[in-house]
Amino acid sequence: MMIVDIHTHVFNPVSDFGPQLRADMQRCGIDPSVWGDVNARHLDATKDADVAVVFGLQASATGWNIPNEAVAAHVSCAANRLLFFASIDPLKPDFMEELEKCHQQLGAVGVKLAPLYQNIHPADPRYYEIYRYCTKHGLPVLFHAGTSFVGGTLLDYSRPVHFDAIAVDFPDLRMVLAHLGHPWEGETIAVIRRHANVYADISALYYRPWQFYNSMRLLVEYRATEKVLFGSDFPFTTTQDSLKGVRGINEILGKSGLPAVPGEVIESIIHRNSLELLGLPNPVLSIKQ
Ligand SMILES: [Zn+2]
Repeated sequence: MMIVDIHTHVFNPVSDFGPQLRADMQRCGIDPSVWGDVNARHLDATKDADVAVVFGLQASATGWNIPNEAVAAHVSCAANRLLFFASIDPLKPDFMEELEKCHQQLGAVGVKLAPLYQNIHPADPRYYEIYRYCTKHGLPVLFHAGTSFVGGTLLDYSRPVHFDAIAVDFPDLRMVLAHLGHPWEGETIAVIRRHANVYADISALYYRPWQFYNSMRLLVEYRATEKVLFGSDFPFTTTQDSLKGVRGINEILGKSGLPAVPGEVIESIIHRNSLELLGLPNPVLSIKQ
């Protein structure tokens, strides 16, 4: 059984982060220098995953400028276990050409969008152009959903409920709502359980153990755990630490008598066949010996 880490980042904070992003990070106590050389660490930090999905972020509204070429080049260093998702910023006039280039020339097998970071409503006509392209070509879209440390944009664009309308208009588009849409995990569950092709990931959640525990219990009660994919959010954490943290979810319960999250539920999420569910190629198999 394989482990897929559906959510990992690479970037170079020195060249890829604008002044506004640096200020947001400083305000929220995030020091990018603790991550060291992110690209160099990525391979080791994700090694417990058989396959990792990798993306940058293009979001001019909040100061992210990670070139898709750099992400694609990193993925090509370990093409037997990494998959490249393109990040497309619809505020840029040539965004559809960028999408076509990433898909047709750089080997992108999916797309990463971030309405909160890009300051565009999920139902904006520019995003709809991207959804049409992704539906036509079978590319899944992973959305940042839920809150973030960045300021200056509308938090409302990150509300999980907005993705409900996208799923109604594009029933064949495979979507992942990242971070269970925290702190609106209940809203995310409401969306993923009613659309066959909408999933959520549990990246970057285990280190808020009370919130994570409650979200997982909510998923169990709604019988929606099968719509959940494993992810880490490297470099904010690693695949290894995420596996450990997710498996340790019941540690906070102590002798409280609160219901545990069943171990088989945890293991089924960790070993979810995310590649098949999202229609992604298996890089382990597609590399010719
Ligand atoms: Zn992320």
